[in-house]
Amino acid sequence: MSAVAGASTALITPQAAEAAIDDQLPGLPIEARPLSRCVGATLRENVYAERDYPPFDRVCMDGVAIDSAASRRGVRRYAVQATQPAGAPPLTLADTESAIEVMTGASLPQGTDCVIPLEQYVLADGFVSLTAPVNDTPLRNIQRRGQDGRHGALMLEAGTLLGAPEIAVAASAGLARVRVSSQPAFMVISTGDELIEPGEPIAGHQIRRSNTYAVIAALRARGFDRVSNDHLLDDEAMLTDRLSLHLATHEALILSGGVSMGRFDLVPKVLKSLGVREVFHRVAQRPGKPMWFGVGPRGQAVFGLPGNPVSTLICLVRFVIPGIVAAMGTRRPPVERIGLAKSVTFDPPLAYFLPVAVELDEWARPWASPRPTNTSGDFLSLIGTDGFVELPPGPMTYPKGFVAALYRW
Ligand code: AMP
Ligand code: MG
Repeated sequence: MSAVAGASTALITPQAAEAAIDDQLPGLPIEARPLSRCVGATLRENVYAERDYPPFDRVCMDGVAIDSAASRRGVRRYAVQATQPAGAPPLTLADTESAIEVMTGASLPQGTDCVIPLEQYVLADGFVSLTAPVNDTPLRNIQRRGQDGRHGALMLEAGTLLGAPEIAVAASAGLARVRVSSQPAFMVISTGDELIEPGEPIAGHQIRRSNTYAVIAALRARGFDRVSNDHLLDDEAMLTDRLSLHLATHEALILSGGVSMGRFDLVPKVLKSLGVREVFHRVAQRPGKPMWFGVGPRGQAVFGLPGNPVSTLICLVRFVIPGIVAAMGTRRPPVERIGLAKSVTFDPPLAYFLPVAVELDEWARPWASPRPTNTSGDFLSLIGTDGFVELPPGPMTYPKGFVAALYRW
């Protein structure tokens, strides 16, 4: 990405910005974590089958196990020899006119090859009498050893995101801990003299500090829990001091505000003075054009998002979260795509991130219903939206049904 690095004024496309982030962010470290704390984490090792699955011929029904040849010979009454519960080593059938009572999950007794479910016999005086005609084909109601998977087979690949089924598979492989990506320590920073914390008194010319809350919420919703925050004034000395501290203690800095062209937009300058290498500044997109991205001396990810609330959230979801997820070694899931519910016209030669509500038509098919905001400051319009679509640079009228990438909040 050398063509991008250092190009402080050239506009790059969202795709090039995404590629540059992927390219420049070093992989996040690996840690061995107890399995019970791994949901949502990215696996960083392959997991192989510890044994065959199932590991023995497994009884699938409560009933009696018999030798099916005896039933086919016409034997209808069997002496109950013993009971074989789940978790006990397999018994051995004494003779073909005996049966062993078995429970679901038990290991199939040796000498038997068929399980008759308990609805199909009567048990009295230590004998089982078959009632209706039974299905006595060999292997009836038995799951064969190795039927689902073979010892040594690759079950989970590095890069897999661990959800409930994957955690079950790792547990069944006997792993008490698995190697997963460490979560980065995030520092979410608002900048701006005008910003006032919720709960504090506010004057008419001041603005509530809402971006930090939105960014933290979006991170937490995705399972990131090492998230701190700070507020900095548009003051070079303060920015220098505190950003230097945050760079020393965090792997990912997400700043909002202070990256545009105004006299008090000091963030890029201060970051550079602290040794953060600029990878790009400004992306050919609306909203969020002033976005800045750089990499700190220890490989820290530093995202300078424009302060307008709609821009902040869109840039976070479009670039920051996917970038961090990629740095965690997660295989990138395919981007969701959706058709526009009505036509949209957009003239500037910029990618257009258009907020949408996903609505179902009468056949329950999803469509993206445009919910444009008044400006990139108009975050009230985001209420009730599900995310935004990315429309390629215009000028263009995107007709109803135009299929675009959908990013959910
Ligand atoms: P900036 O990118 O610093 O020029 O900020 C652009 C606009 O976003 C200004 O109107 C700011 O007041 C507003 N803004 C910046 N940061 C925040 C924030 N954390 N919460 C709400 N609005 C903000
Ligand atoms: Mg500002």
